[in-house]
Amino acid sequence: MKISALFQDSKPVFSFEFFPPRTPEGEQQLFQTIADLRSLKPGFVSITYGAGGSTRSRTVEWVRRIRELGLEPMAHLTCAGSSREEIASLLDELTTCTDNILALRGDPPRGSKEFQPAPGGFRYANELVAFVRERHGERFTLGGAGYPEGHPESVSLEADLQNLRRKVEAGLDFVITQLFFNNALYFGFVERARKAGIGVPIVPGLMPITNLAQVRKFMDLCGASIPGPLLSRLESVADDPQGVLEVGVEHATRQAAELLGAGAPGIHFYTLNKSPATRRVLENLR
Ligand SMILES: Cc1cc2nc3c(=O)[nH]c(=O)nc-3n(C[C@H](O)[C@H](O)[C@H](O)COP(=O)(O)OP(=O)(O)OC[C@H]3O[C@@H](n4cnc5c(N)ncnc54)[C@H](O)[C@@H]3O)c2cc1C
Repeated sequence: MKISALFQDSKPVFSFEFFPPRTPEGEQQLFQTIADLRSLKPGFVSITYGAGGSTRSRTVEWVRRIRELGLEPMAHLTCAGSSREEIASLLDELTTCTDNILALRGDPPRGSKEFQPAPGGFRYANELVAFVRERHGERFTLGGAGYPEGHPESVSLEADLQNLRRKVEAGLDFVITQLFFNNALYFGFVERARKAGIGVPIVPGLMPITNLAQVRKFMDLCGASIPGPLLSRLESVADDPQGVLEVGVEHATRQAAELLGAGAPGIHFYTLNKSPATRRVLENLR
């Protein structure tokens, strides 16, 4: 099913993001997480695409598995490390297992600040979006990434918004945001997007914090900020994993309730392949 149809309904669309595991233990953990979360009836489940295209076949494999498990899959797809011929052949493969793609540029490889397109590949996500539409028309629902605090490489919030508009004009059906911990950032972003003529659903991406060190790493990688009072609360329980989880779940629940109350079309959970925090946030909301 194309997930664009879900956004036409007035009910919020909840979705979970997973990454394709590397080890048999990781696979077992992801099967367990899916078993734990499926009763929450997500609208869709997305599978990431490893840096530089490194998980290409595992992404497709997990998209197939998700569908076999009776859930609606969305494949992430990036421009990194692939020529347009390679992307064309992957798209053909994706037509056999999903109706939904999150079209992204991808990050530069670790240790490098600048994204380099592969020979014969794409430099920006809008080129990938246009390519998918050119080859497959409306066959897929296409999502893309949006950045409430601006993309780290972007020269200004305005330039970043113009890029988002280019991606939507190229054919995006909806946007999922980078994670954020302060809802004012999302509300400001949506307001600026609407003023810029971007009308597609903008789904907030939330990550319930379960590990302070891990969150700091994410902050460095994606440029998202953490409000001072939240950071102080987390630091005060830094040596107590259960305490960190409690603060993380409480904060994410409050964020989600306020976002949905203000009309957000759903919530996309960055789960890191673990179920307890996401499950508790959704149970609190319900
Ligand atoms: C929901 C979500 C899921 C993600 N999943 C994955 C994943 O599975 N795998 C993965 O590797 N990464 C993933 N990412 C990370 C993403 O690949 C990075 O954030 C990447 O750096 C940018 O991708 P993009 O699609 O936003 O790129 P783009 O939209 O191409 O933007 C990249 C940068 O280029 C600028 N730009 C764009 N077009 C132009 C132009 N014409 N001229 C000048 N500047 C321009 C933009 O402002 C921005 O600074 C995800 C991000 C999000 C929010």
